Amino acid sequence: MENDCLFCKIVAGDIPATVVRETETTLAFRDINPKAPVHVLVIPKEHYVDVATLAQADPALGGELLETVAAVAESEGVLLDGFRLIFNTGEYGGQEVFHAHAHLLGGAPIGPMVAG
Ligand code: 5GP
Ligand code: ZN
Repeated sequence: MENDCLFCKIVAGDIPATVVRETETTLAFRDINPKAPVHVLVIPKEHYVDVATLAQADPALGGELLETVAAVAESEGVLLDGFRLIFNTGEYGGQEVFHAHAHLLGGAPIGPMVAG
C-alpha cells in the first residue's frame, strides 16, 4: 500500500467503490465518471505507478490483469460487440491516478481512437 494513493485506498476498502470483480491479485470497479455505458477500471492490488512499471516488474501479474479484463468484458456483455482497453501512461498519456489501471470501455461505439 502506497500512502496517499487513491486506488490503494480502494483496494484497502478505505474508499468505497462499485466492485464488479475481485481476484487474489486484481480488482475491477466502475469508474466514478464513466465515459461510456460500460466503464470499468481494472487494477493490480499491488501498487505500480503505471502499466510499463507493472509489466517490467511482474509480467505474470500483467497477464492476470488482462485475464480480469476478459472476465469483466464477458460479465458486462461487451465481448461480442467489442470494447476498448486504454492504459493512460505518464504525463503525455494523460494519466491522473498513478496506480496502474486499465480502462475498459464499451456498451456503445467508443469513437475515434484519439481526439483531434
Ligand atoms: P487516468 O486519467 O489516470 O487514466 O484515469 C483515472 C480515472 O479514475 C478517471 O477516469 C477517473 O474518473 C477515475 N477516478 C478518479 N477518482 C475516482 C474514485 O474515487 N473512484 C472511482 N471509482 N474512480 C475514480
Ligand atoms: Zn496505489
